[in-house]
Amino acid sequence: MAGRAPDLAVVGAGVVGAAAAYFATRAGLRVTVLDRGPVAGGTSGRGEGNLLVSDKEAGPELDLALLSRRIWRERLGAFAGLWEFDAKGGLVVAASAEGAARLAELTRRQRAAGVEAVDLTAAELPTFEPYLAPGLPAGAYYPQDAQVQPMLATAHLLRLAREAGAEVRTGAEVTGFLRDGDRVTGVRTTGGDLPAGQVLNAAGPWAGSVARLAGVRLPVLPRRGFVLVTEPLPPTVRHKVYAAEYVGDVASSDAGLQSSPVVEATESGTVLIGSTRERVGFDATLSLPALRLLARKAIALFPALTGVRAMRAYCGFRPYCPDHLPVVGPDPRAPGLWHACGHEGAGIGLAAGTGWLLGQALTGAAPDLDLAPFAPERFERSETP
Ligand SMILES: Cc1cc2nc3c(=O)[nH]c(=O)nc-3n(C[C@H](O)[C@H](O)[C@H](O)COP(=O)(O)OP(=O)(O)OC[C@H]3O[C@@H](n4cnc5c(N)ncnc54)[C@H](O)[C@@H]3O)c2cc1C
Repeated sequence: MAGRAPDLAVVGAGVVGAAAAYFATRAGLRVTVLDRGPVAGGTSGRGEGNLLVSDKEAGPELDLALLSRRIWRERLGAFAGLWEFDAKGGLVVAASAEGAARLAELTRRQRAAGVEAVDLTAAELPTFEPYLAPGLPAGAYYPQDAQVQPMLATAHLLRLAREAGAEVRTGAEVTGFLRDGDRVTGVRTTGGDLPAGQVLNAAGPWAGSVARLAGVRLPVLPRRGFVLVTEPLPPTVRHKVYAAEYVGDVASSDAGLQSSPVVEATESGTVLIGSTRERVGFDATLSLPALRLLARKAIALFPALTGVRAMRAYCGFRPYCPDHLPVVGPDPRAPGLWHACGHEGAGIGLAAGTGWLLGQALTGAAPDLDLAPFAPERFERSETP
């Protein structure tokens, strides 16, 4: 690979690599993005595009979600139409009196952490969602929840990075690292060696394998999710709607099947019902029991979906970390190597803030958020495999 060495080689052309490449380029770095497949060919092309603050407990992930929301709206706001940004808001509903009490507790904690959350009575729910199942005791409205089309977001962020000077090489698999002693000085790829000032591992659910090539351990594992897509419908679902139990499923470390759905309409009229969560490695076999469970629970929320045809179903692999926090920052075990991975089921939403923080940190500026909770070496202190 001839030419001047970039300041930063980004491994992975998913949404996280794309956002990092965009902000690093805008911060003045020469950036080359490498992917063994096409743009958004990994998880970023196999999920949904919810930008949620509603499903997060107070803490570092919520702080990153709030920052990301600000970056999507402000720094990237001029491009919102390119990726179908829709600030439609989220509606969380409780199925029982006990669930309603837990939801009220959650909204109280979230409000204290800066989230806008409005508690709703049973009587108020139909004014938000006229087709919602009757008899639900309470809910909460989150005006800050939004959505984007993830593949469009990834592709346009990379195009904008290219227009600002970045290079994108698809079909180039990273097979090793160039070293000068401990220091990482570039990557070996199937297209030749690429020396680089720094290397960013943004390889999604494969980030653990890429880290291993550099001799460091990152316990990023795939967490499979199925999504059901209905035929286009007349307006039936106005917000992102999900049952309060979803928050517990997201936070769970259980390897077994969880299936509380988020129901949302897209610009084209299809309704996305997603998604299951289970840890079964990279097994992409279609699971009818998982899809049935999703459909049943979506119909429980919206009886109007009974009899609606599912047009297709697909699955992807969330990059899961055992402590449910992403890995963002430099790796002291291999100087010159940075990571941006492990965003699990929130990587589309969190990509904007992650890219923004990396643009700051990679150029020596103080990042807007403390990166310590996301430190790559934190797993050295734990018992995780
Ligand atoms: C069903 C489902 C629903 C989801 N819903 C949402 C949602 O509503 N909102 C949300 O925010 N998030 C959601 N997510 C999660 C989100 O999709 C991910 O967190 C996000 O896409 C991760 O992006 P990434 O860039 O880290 O990884 P990826 O998109 O997987 O990109 C990693 C890239 O690295 C490349 N790569 C790997 N190894 C190498 C190598 N050795 N050399 C070169 N390239 C390599 C891969 O080809 C891939 O393109 C969902 C995920 C799933 C599966």
